Amino acid sequence: MRSIYSLTLADLTEWLAQRGEKPYRADQIWQWLYRHHVASYEEMTNIPKKILEPLSEEFVFSPLRTEIVQKAQDKTTKFLFELHDHSMIETVLMYHHYGISVCVTTQIGCNIGCKFCASGLIPKVRDLEAGEIVAQIMYVQRHLDQLGQGEKVSHIVVMGIGEPFDNYDNVMKFLRIVNSDKGLAIGARHITVSTSGLAPKIREFAREGLQVNLAVSLHAPNNETRSSIMKINREYPIEELFDAIYEYIERTNRRVTFEYIMIDGVNDTPQHAKELAALLKPMLKLAYVNLIPYNPVAENPFQRSKADNIARFFDILMKNNVNCVVRKEHGTEIEAACGQLRSQYERKRKNKTAKKTKEEIRQLSQERKAAKISAQTN
Ligand code: SAH
Ligand code: SF4
Repeated sequence: MRSIYSLTLADLTEWLAQRGEKPYRADQIWQWLYRHHVASYEEMTNIPKKILEPLSEEFVFSPLRTEIVQKAQDKTTKFLFELHDHSMIETVLMYHHYGISVCVTTQIGCNIGCKFCASGLIPKVRDLEAGEIVAQIMYVQRHLDQLGQGEKVSHIVVMGIGEPFDNYDNVMKFLRIVNSDKGLAIGARHITVSTSGLAPKIREFAREGLQVNLAVSLHAPNNETRSSIMKINREYPIEELFDAIYEYIERTNRRVTFEYIMIDGVNDTPQHAKELAALLKPMLKLAYVNLIPYNPVAENPFQRSKADNIARFFDILMKNNVNCVVRKEHGTEIEAACGQLRSQYERKRKNKTAKKTKEEIRQLSQERKAAKISAQTN
């Protein structure tokens, strides 16, 4: 049974219209859901029974049941939810100087199977429905309401278990629901979707007309290293991935964040840093690199890079004018952040935030077109 949170305002209006009900009822119901954060249909006191009864028969209210809530010293809070099919998912609430973010899960397990990732060890059982993703946010928001400080979820990171672009339609629907002015109205610029690099979906995402941030899990600057830890790279090698990323930048005028987990002896040498700087050189002002100290997973042999090597890597990027930050960790003692991530998504920029301009993007497209033409003619 689908959840009420799976319906866009248009879906709900349509459902009501089929029963001869007026569109304003959809607005009212959405207000209960996303302004008053009610936890049940019974609380929607101005909606008549003749609407609520069939609605509740067709759509469950919340598809989530909490199993465990764990809170770390820095207030990072991890929620473990059970779904109707008894699958378990994790959601993480994090406090930052700029607001409160929630990291959501999009699939049960993940089929991309990156070697370093705990989620990749569990083959995908199923995709989450849009409403199961929206409900994670609403559950956390109600938790904040109960704390009584008037705090609001202000940022969303789609970086929990699963590959969001392998559950593309549900994730897009989720984004539209939480971003809607009449819903939670979380600004698109406050939402970040992270992908392991499904190039065709990056191109599709570029056409959505959403201002949502894109993060790409790069983790290596060349095909050899990347394919050795991410088998998706064999399907979409770096050249193809970057073609899609350039298309995304050109279409959306938006910057891209590159996530780079630092794994000891695998991708953290000065040579890797130089290659990464060279790879990003054509898009310097449009790229941000997040260096993430790797969190070891019991089932694989990888270890976190040594602090000195992370510092050296960072220095090389900085010397090459790459915007770069070493990501700060959150809630480590409760193993927070969506199964594998356990670190905070931060957009702190060490380099002065470079102002992107349309001119830069235009130049970039021209240079790339010229490079393609000269490659064809040579
Ligand atoms: N599937 C998507 C989003 C979820 S993973 C993706 O891969 O981008 C979110 C981020 O956590 C990715 O950058 C992923 O590579 C990283 N990650 C996975 N396992 C990790 C670990 N053990 N330590 C640190 N980061 C990890
Ligand atoms: Fe899936 Fe992302 Fe983990 Fe890779 S890193 S296995 S894509 S969740």
